[in-house]
Amino acid sequence: MTSSPPVAKYEVVIGLECHAQVNTRSKMFCRCSTDYSGGEPNTHVCPVCMGMPGVLPVINAQAVEFTIMTGLALNCEIPDRAKFDRKNYPYPDLMKGYQISEYDMPLCQNGYIDVEVDGRTSRIRINRVHLEEDTARLLHRSDQSGDYSLLDVNRAGMPLMEIVTEPDARSPQEAVAYLTKLHQILRYLGVSDADMEKGNFRCEPNLSLRPHGSDEYGSKVELKNLNSFRAALRGMEFEVERQGRILDEGGHVVSETRGWREETQETASQRSKEQAHDYRYFPEPDLPPIAVSHEYVETLRSALPELPDARRERFMTYYGLSAYEAAVLTESRAKADYFEAALAASDGADSRQASAKPISNWLLGDLSRLLNNAGLEIEAAPVRPEQLAELVSLIESAKISGTAGKQVLDAMFASGREPAEIVAEQGLGRIEDNSVVEAAITSVIAANEKAVADYHAGKTEAVKFLVGQVMKETRGRANAAEVQALLLSQLDGIGSP
Ligand code: ADP
Ligand code: MG
Ligand code: ZN
Repeated sequence: MTSSPPVAKYEVVIGLECHAQVNTRSKMFCRCSTDYSGGEPNTHVCPVCMGMPGVLPVINAQAVEFTIMTGLALNCEIPDRAKFDRKNYPYPDLMKGYQISEYDMPLCQNGYIDVEVDGRTSRIRINRVHLEEDTARLLHRSDQSGDYSLLDVNRAGMPLMEIVTEPDARSPQEAVAYLTKLHQILRYLGVSDADMEKGNFRCEPNLSLRPHGSDEYGSKVELKNLNSFRAALRGMEFEVERQGRILDEGGHVVSETRGWREETQETASQRSKEQAHDYRYFPEPDLPPIAVSHEYVETLRSALPELPDARRERFMTYYGLSAYEAAVLTESRAKADYFEAALAASDGADSRQASAKPISNWLLGDLSRLLNNAGLEIEAAPVRPEQLAELVSLIESAKISGTAGKQVLDAMFASGREPAEIVAEQGLGRIEDNSVVEAAITSVIAANEKAVADYHAGKTEAVKFLVGQVMKETRGRANAAEVQALLLSQLDGIGSP
């Protein structure tokens, strides 16, 4: 970020509130299905999530479990008692006129995650992780009959986890590093799809400035409508500039909610927060408090999957991968699993470590390129991990060249077929007979007088070009290092004019 001079005068303070839809099969307090992807509006509803009088909510145990798992992964304390409260406010998307949430006894509290920006690690404390229900969806329309809103109750009562940090982030970059890591952890745990674009991972940064050295916080702005990490970064950077300018002019930042406008790349006021909301919280009378036993928490803790930081460390120390490779391979659990499945398919524990580097190279290089071009995630790769391992072993044992390997991978990706089959069918196996390579070199030398003259004139790049031509002539089936040696001896044999 370019910190322009006025902004450098102030310290940036950011706290984040994120909502993640919890991956359960049924809603938070009723049996309605959470899977309404592509379904008609208002088809997954019942008297409970419609807010009819006289009905009783029932706590979704899976949602509680996933929330506690999240708290554990975020280094939180899990108190032995939690309770639900009613948060009262009137709004058309709120079916009951109140939302069931957790006020003063959340499921998880006092955690943290460490994030790294430009090689500097900082700790972002987590204030709490609690469970609540989502609201219905309002769709604002306008046409010849005027402005109106449609209501889709399918989303009402979906389980939501709210994860709130202390105001610890000190730059938009640090806040985005936090979001990225939180997102990664949720996906590793499998507790949420956490897809920002689909709105099942929504983040609201609160941002304020204060003079360096001050121990009081300035008044904050809450940012909404951020549906990508990029929008979050831009939105926060915009606010830093805007608030810096106001303070420079001796003004006072209005405490309010501002929405990010993608079209204009700026934030605009949505509603003032000067007078605090009175939600008249009180304990939800229709639900018992939740007793969380120590044994239950420890069972969940011991069943947590290996988390991204630990896995990255292991990839470095055990497989000898670089920090960069380990970080990219562990970006998602699916990618790390793919990598380790491929390794497991290379035979023998010894070869497993030896194969780590080449498998990582092929996975992060050519396979990722093919996936990107096809717009596919690793989960949907047409090449199975064992097949990639087989390909790498063909290359490592010099049965095919690296160049041929690329062709084989392309064909594998397109057809899902076995590498050995493709090698045999397309005749891509290494040329064992040196005389075939010699013949190719002779014809390349004859056809490229200019490059040959360049070589003799001392232009060493000409060799690279000629080797490339021979590789092309042999369709990548020769060994490039051998080709170069044979080529040089032929060239030098011809002698300088
Ligand atoms: P509110 O009552 O407005 O919702 P909270 O105290 O609940 O405010 O805090 C909401 C979020 O805002 C938290 O993540 C918190 O860390 C953050 N926050 C609180 N005060 C500030 C501030 N002055 N500047 C930036 N973030 C803040
Ligand atoms: Mg709050
Ligand atoms: Zn329902």
